[in-house]
Amino acid sequence: MPTYRQCLKQAQKQMQNAGLSEQSATLLMLELANMDSQNLYMDYEKEMPSELEESFNEAFPRLLSGEPLQHILGFEWFYGYRFKVNEDVLIPRPETEELVANILAAYDEHFADKENVMVCDIGTGSGAIAISLKKEEPKLNVMATDISERALAVAGENAKINEAQVAFCCGDMVEPLIERQLHFDILISNPPYIPNDEELEHSVKDFEPHVALFGGDDGLKFYRIIFERSKLILNEKSMLAFEIGYNQKEALMAEAAKYFPDSKIEVLKDMNGKNRMLFIYNHCD
Ligand code: SAM
Ligand code: GLN
Repeated sequence: MPTYRQCLKQAQKQMQNAGLSEQSATLLMLELANMDSQNLYMDYEKEMPSELEESFNEAFPRLLSGEPLQHILGFEWFYGYRFKVNEDVLIPRPETEELVANILAAYDEHFADKENVMVCDIGTGSGAIAISLKKEEPKLNVMATDISERALAVAGENAKINEAQVAFCCGDMVEPLIERQLHFDILISNPPYIPNDEELEHSVKDFEPHVALFGGDDGLKFYRIIFERSKLILNEKSMLAFEIGYNQKEALMAEAAKYFPDSKIEVLKDMNGKNRMLFIYNHCD
């Protein structure tokens, strides 16, 4: 039997040669061994149990082929909650956790005094945003939509796993909410925003759903649709919160100002200093 060190060193070398992150080999090992890194380093020179060697050898080729670690493990953590993920949903990203944190702060500032605050998450994917918000602020009434039935099936499971009450409905952007004649205080979306012709890395392009990624020729198609159609479902005092591409600030601020000429519009940066979130406040002062 190889020791943990021998097995990991070899795996890390193979990952490095393939131009992939060495760290994901360690993360895979930790997860399969059900260890934290401190335990792993304490046992570093010990022989691995044979079942662990087998399960690592079975899973590792997938990692080496560029498949995301989250697909191999079947989950990702988001805002401290565990979310099932598969090829039908976008793997929730750390940048999107910052969107959730900023929405909660804006809620506290502008809506905390209101009863029955209504929130919708458009293009919910795994349900990460909608479910985390409901967990963090159980008073909120949260609805979430997606055009993909398969994504909604995963989101529904995630709501169950996390014991969060979120209502899901299938349809094109805000249309199912217009049909139901609902009205909202807070509209959130992390829509697909990658321009159609942009090159993506292999682990994203070949493993994540394209319906979750591409947003038309300039990547802004879904923002325009939401800006225009959301008028029909927003209360007079309301807030819109979006994740955006790091290079879309100017174009989106100009676009938003056309649809919301009297509203406060701001863009916030993520922890990497990139423009990442767009907030629009209607009558919020
Ligand atoms: N909200 C999730 C998150 O932040 O991790 C997923 C975001 S993913 C970038 C965009 C989502 O929008 C995908 O789940 C995709 O299925 C959905 N979507 C794409 N086109 C749509 C449409 N026309 N109407 C509703 N949802 C759509
Ligand atoms: N952040 C995702 C990526 O880098 C894109 C998410 C989106 O289009 N909203 O692949």
